[in-house]
Amino acid sequence: MLRVGLTGGIGSGKSTVSALLVSYGAVLIDADRIAREVVEPGTDGLAAVVAEFGEDILAADGTLDRPELGRIVFADESRLKALNAIVHPLVRDRSAELEAAAGPDSVVVQDVPLLAENRLAPLYDLVVVVDAAPETQLDRLVRQRGMPEDDARARMAAQATRDERLAVADLVIDNDGPLEALAPQVKKVWEELRRRAAVTRG
Ligand code: ADP
Repeated sequence: MLRVGLTGGIGSGKSTVSALLVSYGAVLIDADRIAREVVEPGTDGLAAVVAEFGEDILAADGTLDRPELGRIVFADESRLKALNAIVHPLVRDRSAELEAAAGPDSVVVQDVPLLAENRLAPLYDLVVVVDAAPETQLDRLVRQRGMPEDDARARMAAQATRDERLAVADLVIDNDGPLEALAPQVKKVWEELRRRAAVTRG
């Protein structure tokens, strides 16, 4: 098994790259998605969040009221810590489960937005960085995702710089160009990952 950390700034094209890797045969572990799954209605995770934050944290339909939770935890670091203490171990366990279920020959790709920021590179056999210029990221966030420009700039400023990410990369995917240029590069990276997975096994 080859364990790959995939990262890139917001709007760099991580989700697009991970979808391509999955189409070639990678096993994707998406931490953001798992973080949502572990607090779906009926889970122990949601029960623990309600025990900590109270019933007011639920929307009328019984799901977690994320905007309300966001307002609470981003205004108070101790509340954010309390939330992370519930969610992080659940995400870790679920990720480990998914990894254990992947075969010995598999390439397991973890989508880790804050890999550089949290110095997580040592957790992976290999780090792949999706790279785009900040102007390109901004343009995609504002024009394609409809994010207000100030929000997009603030989110980008809260992340590592382009150089900081490139410094932890083993392989770089250049996604500053058009979409047509992306798939052939991801295919090449995929072939390299397969090759390395075979070596790891051998
Ligand atoms: P991330 O997951 O890194 O935040 P996404 O993969 O969601 O980024 O890409 C951000 C937006 O830019 C999406 O709307 C996506 O379709 C678009 N996008 C990704 N790569 C390109 C590209 N090379 N050219 C144009 N648009 C792109």
